[in-house]
Amino acid sequence: MAHGRIGFIGAGKMATAIIRGWISAGTVVASDLCITAPSDRNTRPLKEEFPDITVAKTNVDVVQRSTIVFLAVKPHILPIVAAQIKSRVTPAHLLVTIAAGATTAQVEAMLGPATRVVRVMPNTPCAIRCNAGAVSGGSNASPADIETVCNLFAPLSADGTAPDSVPDSLMDAVTGVAGSGPAFVLTFIEAMADGGVYAGLPRHIAAKLAAQTVMGAAKLVLETGEHPAALRDAVCSPGGTTITGVRALETHGLRNAVISAVAAAAEKGGHLR
Ligand code: NAD
Repeated sequence: MAHGRIGFIGAGKMATAIIRGWISAGTVVASDLCITAPSDRNTRPLKEEFPDITVAKTNVDVVQRSTIVFLAVKPHILPIVAAQIKSRVTPAHLLVTIAAGATTAQVEAMLGPATRVVRVMPNTPCAIRCNAGAVSGGSNASPADIETVCNLFAPLSADGTAPDSVPDSLMDAVTGVAGSGPAFVLTFIEAMADGGVYAGLPRHIAAKLAAQTVMGAAKLVLETGEHPAALRDAVCSPGGTTITGVRALETHGLRNAVISAVAAAAEKGGHLR
């Protein structure tokens, strides 16, 4: 248990995705984990899935039982939680915030200027060990603190590599691409499946083909290291079906829609603070 006991304040979707990923990777065991949320109703699903998890009674209880404390609540709840735990956070604690929009400086200001804070922006595919995300260290986070968090997240990525460490000022952009990105890609997959149904395929076949196609295209980018445009050009035969579809995408503004979605999500992150 090189990482010490890990606490989660907040036991919702993102906490669940991270915990599922760790336990399926075998890098964190349930008995190392302590969670809390305002009522048993909120912690019950995780406790039922992983009975060895400790459910703490209060947020302060989690801090007292853990060396690494994840702040896994919605951004507007952070100040409430910080006010509760501030007097119990010591230099021995490493605080990991996953809240969209909240900078490490803001979390330090809420918890005390000496607090060791690392910010992570993960995404829900953590649960199946396909995370995309990045980390940034606060002013008191040592390189070892950042490494600790990177080591926790490396087994949650598809290739086992640690997330990139970026300046805090880029974390809203990471939120736009990775944190919010699964929703954009899922919308694309759904639309592609609708296209398949329109062209005559049964829904279940169209949906599977759309998801497999997105996964295959993503793997091509990651495994060849080639530019996406080069890979796309390679499958566009002159006068063929694919270039005809690409023209339709451009006519209907897919590229601009996607850029606008990422930019809007990143900008919203800045407005959450
Ligand atoms: P969620 O609503 O599913 O979970 C929030 C949890 O906080 C719940 O368990 C809730 O009971 C608990 N909670 C509420 N008030 C609390 C309090 N006072 N003390 C302790 N716990 C309290 O939300 P989520 O999607 O898991 O998001 C959590 C954080 O993760 C957010 O800040 C979000 O920005 C960030 N995040 C989410 C995603 C995502 O895709 N869901 C991706 C990246 C980052």
